[in-house]
Amino acid sequence: MKDDNCIFCKLANGDIPTRSIYEDETFRVFLDAAPATKGHALIVPKDHAANLYELPDETAGKALILAKKMAAHMTEKLGCDGFNVVQNNGEIAGQTVFHFHMHLIPRYKDDANMNRFVWNPTSPSDEELDAVQGLLK
Ligand code: AMP
Ligand code: ZN
Repeated sequence: MKDDNCIFCKLANGDIPTRSIYEDETFRVFLDAAPATKGHALIVPKDHAANLYELPDETAGKALILAKKMAAHMTEKLGCDGFNVVQNNGEIAGQTVFHFHMHLIPRYKDDANMNRFVWNPTSPSDEELDAVQGLLK
């Protein structure tokens, strides 16, 4: 289902033109308008889901298979040296467009802005790690 108020619904379904590089019945892949690196693209499902929590299982499975296919294709064509696949959920996690998407970010030895997508490593105690493990398993 499309959401009439959602820009990515319009882009994915061709209601607004994009720099499209791939399309099938479930997804469109188009270039990010503010790319982190040359070739930065977005995998966007044609049906609206705000984020990973809302994404149907079938679409989630297809999205990762498509990410693998696009990574191989883009690496061959762009000659990049590495590849990040990034997916943000919620404002605190950096999501700015609330229609699920996966970032495909080719990486180059000389790309200026980052060596990796950074977080600050922490040093929890064994007890703290045990508690988290206990919570999650
Ligand atoms: P996120 O912060 O994970 O929600 O990523 C949203 C991404 O969408 C950003 O990288 C934007 O540059 C990109 N973006 C927003 N609007 C457009 C648009 N009209 N066409 C292409 N990319 C867009
Ligand atoms: Zn949408």
